[in-house]
Amino acid sequence: MTRIWFTLLALTLAAPLSAQEEPDAGFKAEMILALKNLQLLDHRLNAIGYRLVDANAPYCDQKAARTGLLLNDVAQYVDQETARFALGFSGPIGITAVAPDSPAESAKLSPGDTLLAINTMAVEEIAVDGPDLANEPPPYRRVAAINQMIEQALAQRNVELTISRGGMNQTIPVAAAMTCPSQFQIRVSADRSASADGKLVSVSSRLAEYFLTDDEFAAVVAHELAHNLLKHRDELDAKNVNRGFFGQFGESAGQIKAAEIEADRLSVWLMTNAGYDPQAAIRFWTRYGMEHGKGIFSASTHYRWKKRVQLFEEEIAQMGAAVPVDGKLAPPLLTGQD
Ligand SMILES: [Zn+2]
Repeated sequence: MTRIWFTLLALTLAAPLSAQEEPDAGFKAEMILALKNLQLLDHRLNAIGYRLVDANAPYCDQKAARTGLLLNDVAQYVDQETARFALGFSGPIGITAVAPDSPAESAKLSPGDTLLAINTMAVEEIAVDGPDLANEPPPYRRVAAINQMIEQALAQRNVELTISRGGMNQTIPVAAAMTCPSQFQIRVSADRSASADGKLVSVSSRLAEYFLTDDEFAAVVAHELAHNLLKHRDELDAKNVNRGFFGQFGESAGQIKAAEIEADRLSVWLMTNAGYDPQAAIRFWTRYGMEHGKGIFSASTHYRWKKRVQLFEEEIAQMGAAVPVDGKLAPPLLTGQD
């Protein structure tokens, strides 16, 4: 099943079908299923990411205004008609996920709602040619511009979103939660990988499918989020550390490994504060390590999985000695007590 829907997603996102290759009904049904699977992964990542940034907000010096909404543009898909149908939208932009316990959930927004306007600005009128959007692939620029606009508006006051649901238009006020920064996205890819670029945490669809539980999923998201919160990318770039292939050797390897160890250590605190079981990091890496052994996670830039598991065990033991304040543990790596 997995292979089939990857192939379908790749087709949906990348390779346009020519007019002569009109897909048959069976193919279309499979494509809808593949899109719904992708939406489920998006929903899980959005929920886990939001819970982590919200629960750990007291320990982040910089904060971001968030609603817990995940938006999607059907321009991201080749067969836009099928995508619109699968996602339940009546227009090009809509809501694909709403994080539990978020302002968007309190506002009763829901997946399938079509977004028409932010305050008085219709979505079609939002400029998508700003210089800060140039790095985004064109089909992702409108959603990036909308997210920016919502965040800027939320920093000043509540935002009103006009949506269409079941053919009826409604204008709904949405509040902001001030959370740790970082956005989260599923990247459709047949490799198992996750990354953090300083602002965004990306998890490949193939890896997202591999997690047995949300706690395992949270272990990897918390590790990548930790890289962002500790500003590792800026730090490594400032030291001119080569993060590419040659970074696996020599001094660069040592500095990357140090960053990896910090991300692992911080991840279990972030998980615990968000109510995830930190032991899931051990379960995940043991399972992954036993199944994969070699590969990138055992390159010289990363601890081998057995050593990683030992590190998690040590950190969880240290966490056990920490005294909770308001039910939460202050992570030493964020509060500078380390
Ligand atoms: Zn890492």
